Amino acid sequence: MEFIREYADWFYLIGAVLFILTLRGLSGPKTAIAGNRYGMIAMAIAVVTTFFVAENPVVWMILAAMAAGAVVGIARARTVPMTQMPETVALMHSLVGLAAVLIAVAAIIHNNKLVELGPDLLAANGVTFYEMSKVHLFELFVGCFVGAITFTASVFAYGKLAAKKWAKTISGGWVKPVQALIFIAMLAAGIHFFLTGSMTSFWAMTGLALAFGWVWIAPVGGGDMPVVVSLLNSFSGWAAAGIGFTLENNMLIVAGSLVGSSGAILSYIMCKAMNRSIINVLFGGAMGGAAAPTAATGAQVQRNYRSGSADDAGFLMSNADSVVIVPGYGMAQGRAQNAVKELANLLKEQGVTVRFAIHPVAGRMPGHMNVLLAEADVPYEDILEMDEINSDFPATDVVLVIGANDVVNPAAKDDPNSPIYGMPILEAHKARTIMVIKRSMATGYAGLDNDLFYNDKTMMIFGDAKKVVEDMTKAINGTGH
Ligand code: NDP
Repeated sequence: MEFIREYADWFYLIGAVLFILTLRGLSGPKTAIAGNRYGMIAMAIAVVTTFFVAENPVVWMILAAMAAGAVVGIARARTVPMTQMPETVALMHSLVGLAAVLIAVAAIIHNNKLVELGPDLLAANGVTFYEMSKVHLFELFVGCFVGAITFTASVFAYGKLAAKKWAKTISGGWVKPVQALIFIAMLAAGIHFFLTGSMTSFWAMTGLALAFGWVWIAPVGGGDMPVVVSLLNSFSGWAAAGIGFTLENNMLIVAGSLVGSSGAILSYIMCKAMNRSIINVLFGGAMGGAAAPTAATGAQVQRNYRSGSADDAGFLMSNADSVVIVPGYGMAQGRAQNAVKELANLLKEQGVTVRFAIHPVAGRMPGHMNVLLAEADVPYEDILEMDEINSDFPATDVVLVIGANDVVNPAAKDDPNSPIYGMPILEAHKARTIMVIKRSMATGYAGLDNDLFYNDKTMMIFGDAKKVVEDMTKAINGTGH
């Protein structure tokens, strides 16, 4: 025990290096498992060391909290379907935010208690007391309000992604002035607390920050939610780093900064993938309230499309030279990844070149498609990112779109009036033949009609992704190629 306490900084340093190796590992599918292991070891080192470093810890409370967290965490990890991962991640960020607020509150109450007891009484009991420095107050001020914003914004993001009724998108001319007002009032209260240490100002700042988190994220359109979740990930990291300063815990400062900066980089990459700026996402509301308004305005014009059977599609693909598969949210929803892998293998056995094209925001979370394809053991070299594959579509015989919609919507390139205009897409419409598997002509996440489905080169194959892909495989097997 003494040993751990004495060498705590060394243990923290080892933990910090392992966290950096974790991020490095997670940057590629081949090294991701090793990266995850480094992360687990680093976290174990951080928790154990902190346990022994704490002064007079209330052991039963810490153990009870850890046990309760472990039970909930394990239960959730075992049961959460991949499709609910984004909202689970959002919910976890909210807990980091809440923890930051609670720690700041506890630190201030603890300090006030010491002030109340007075330095003489404390000295008589062998406690040395230093009044909180300005730097300390500043850390608490920043850590607490960033944490509070992260908390309510993440709860809203969770509600929105889980389609909860209470997570209503707000819009109207009043939103921006109200946001500005709350923000300015929050800063004013925070600065007053910083200058005077007034508890009333502290509570006011915390309350206003909680309100701000909500009104800040509530107007953001559904299509922009992935960027928001990634940004909140970054925020939760900065909140943790701020609290690391309060608790004088180097490990928390390093880990929080790593989460904060990696989340910020991911948000930047995602914004680039959607051709949006972060300011535009957070304050522009350009992608609108996603499904509801856009779908409602689309007048019910009857348009013609061509539909075919899984058998026809299977036959066409087995006679093609090259097939590119574009997976989307529907593949995840239908749990079709293993069936898709089998179909790809069968086509390959028949001499067809098969590759997968991944859009950065396909599915419902960053890396969603990569995770599913990795789970089905699709070789990494067959999986190509948008930039790598887009120029190959014109020379592709068949593009098979499986439950993807927004990420192949040509309106993003052709229609300046479309809410997704400017977002880079997988250019499936340029392939020689296009096949789309989905259950109906319904819209995708952004609530927009998709010209690709009405293209002369397109064949719609209606049905559940898994069932249709299995039927295709059966049909190809039946042809005896
Ligand atoms: P979309 O949501 O645009 O479309 C998915 C399509 O899959 C739907 O049109 C649906 O049509 C079909 N589908 C659903 N279930 C099944 C099933 N069981 N079998 C067959 N088809 C099915 O998905 P994309 O992947 O193209 O685009 C992702 C969207 O989600 C983007 O707008 C993105 O911004 C957003 N988003 C992305 C996040 C991320 O981080 N990746 C997070 C949150 C949102 P039908 O009902 O007719 O079957």
